[in-house]
Amino acid sequence: RAKANGKACYQVFEPTMHQRAFTSLQLETDLRKALVRDEFITHYQPIISLTTNQIVGFEALARWVHPEQGLIPPGKFIPIAEETGLIMAIDLCIMRQACRQLLVWQDEGLVAQSLTMSVNLSVKHFMSFDLLEQIDNILQETGIQGQNLRLEITESDIMGNAEFASKIIEQLQNRHIQLSIDDFGTGYSSLSYLHRLPIDRLKIDRSFVMRIGEHGENTEIIRAIVALANSLGLGTTAEGVETPEQLAQIKALNCEFGQGYLFSKPLDAEATRKVLEHG
Ligand code: C2E
Ligand code: MG
Ligand code: MG
Ligand code: MG
Repeated sequence: RAKANGKACYQVFEPTMHQRAFTSLQLETDLRKALVRDEFITHYQPIISLTTNQIVGFEALARWVHPEQGLIPPGKFIPIAEETGLIMAIDLCIMRQACRQLLVWQDEGLVAQSLTMSVNLSVKHFMSFDLLEQIDNILQETGIQGQNLRLEITESDIMGNAEFASKIIEQLQNRHIQLSIDDFGTGYSSLSYLHRLPIDRLKIDRSFVMRIGEHGENTEIIRAIVALANSLGLGTTAEGVETPEQLAQIKALNCEFGQGYLFSKPLDAEATRKVLEHG
């Protein structure tokens, strides 16, 4: 088979494999340049209290303004950034921008002092005391209080090294930095970390919210997550709320917070300011 098709295989495969390798290497090179050239910007998506209908926070979401390809969403570059370890620099860059922005809005009286800025962290690739030092630097440099910063991490990030994670998380708690578990319900987890770690909120993954009502089991999963959260004294945020029907359902299930296109898509700093100014 190899002999008969060998040539054809080479002809078919070589360019694609070559191209694929080239693309991810190119992407890595471009990512490195992007960091130096400051091509990452932050978009902000409001998180709403479902009891008061007020904006209680924003999630900071990374966007890459590529010189040729325009705005690139995180799904396209975060995986490579994680593979190459560039993620740490990108995460910190977004954290810095988001904290600076929050301070501006605070100073202008556009947001309540209690409003929190949520930042995503890929911790499994840089779980170290370096992380704490970097966060301390950012808090100091931007003047943001620890309690105004909320970190979003996934279950897999914690489970990778639960013992070390608990040390880091304890240190974060000393700084009053808040913690959410992102995409809750999608990762494998023993759940035992939930009561061992000072986590205070679960973000119910969009995949459950999206199909709420459509299949009974998604509703039951959300109900179970809310019950679990309640029994552990944690808050819940429903991700990806897109329709009034979904909003009605998550309210009926006693979710505390909501986030999604129904309220607002993630917006750049200027557009977010307009939302804050005009209600
Ligand atoms: P995530 O942390 O779960 O963020 C929520 C994602 O859902 C965002 O996608 C947001 O735009 C999207 N979303 C929010 N509401 C809706 C909705 O109603 N419908 C739909 N279809 N989507 C909605 P985005 O901005 O593309 O980010 C994707 C993921 O990339 C994030 O998921 C997060 O895991 C990761 N990410 C983004 N920024 C960063 C960052 O600075 N650092 C790290 N490590 N990861 C990041
Ligand atoms: Mg998130
Ligand atoms: Mg999420
Ligand atoms: Mg998600």
